[in-house]
Amino acid sequence: MANRQGFLYMNSVTFSPKDIVNPKTVYTYTQMERDLGILEKMYSDFLEVHTIGQSVDGRELYAVKLGKGKKEIFINGSHHAREYISTNLVMEKIDQYAYSYAKGTKIGSYHTRTILDDTAIWFVPMVNPDGVSLVQLGHKSAKRPQEVLKMNGGNTNFAAWKANIRGVDLNKQYPANWNNLCCNARYPGPQNYKGTKALSEPETKALYDFTLKHNFRAAISYHSSGEILYWYFKQQGSQLSRDEKLARKVSRATGYSMVPKSASGTGGGYTDWFISSQKMPAFTPEVSPYAGHQPVPLSNFDRIWKQNVTIGLMVANEMK
Ligand SMILES: [Zn+2]
Repeated sequence: MANRQGFLYMNSVTFSPKDIVNPKTVYTYTQMERDLGILEKMYSDFLEVHTIGQSVDGRELYAVKLGKGKKEIFINGSHHAREYISTNLVMEKIDQYAYSYAKGTKIGSYHTRTILDDTAIWFVPMVNPDGVSLVQLGHKSAKRPQEVLKMNGGNTNFAAWKANIRGVDLNKQYPANWNNLCCNARYPGPQNYKGTKALSEPETKALYDFTLKHNFRAAISYHSSGEILYWYFKQQGSQLSRDEKLARKVSRATGYSMVPKSASGTGGGYTDWFISSQKMPAFTPEVSPYAGHQPVPLSNFDRIWKQNVTIGLMVANEMK
């Protein structure tokens, strides 16, 4: 360690731009902010970082635009706090797609630059930064630690927490059959409480407004776990056949089984709302083998990455 300066210098000389994001860590909001700052500087020609709102506790909701295409698709992660490995996945996609764009390489059979010059991909890597921080760092990360402790029954272990910091389940907040949701919790808490009205939470309102400002041709909302693919919400006719066909392709590429129509959700989710309001395909892939009511082990990341690395480019290419 005597040669610390020299070591750092060597590091910067051999610095490889594709290594900005390390997805095999407990990836925090702070780390994400830092990485987005670096990526924005490094790839300013074709990558933009925007904010689309703030969380309940005042954290920024970041959106990244990758590519120059006029057509657009949308990928988001971490609606649910304990499912933060979906942020690792989305950030790694941004990092690797940007690197591939810069170098002019292919990912799988997809020529990244050709696709992104035609169809830009927007990403919101962490929809629920307060909830993710709560699961990773505990109640002291919250502005009102006592309130969130109380909602958790006094338990300082928040590993099972899915909701935002006010105890509202953000994936039960969207105006798609919201009035008649199944299995709604009665009070704010770790999961399944849909709130007093649709879009009552700043995180979901930001995503809703952001979506309506764009004309996305498809959306992917990453969750965990179970290696299954939600794709259906009451589509009919040609919309149904188009979406089912694309779902089959995503299912084949990931190995995730398509959730049967009869077992699909009753509404309230981002994907449900996107399908019914935008009349375009949307998917909820549940990444990782089933991991129970807790974060997916980081040791599953390699498997998740292999299954999903091409999906953004594939969907952009299919919907062009
Ligand atoms: Zn989820």
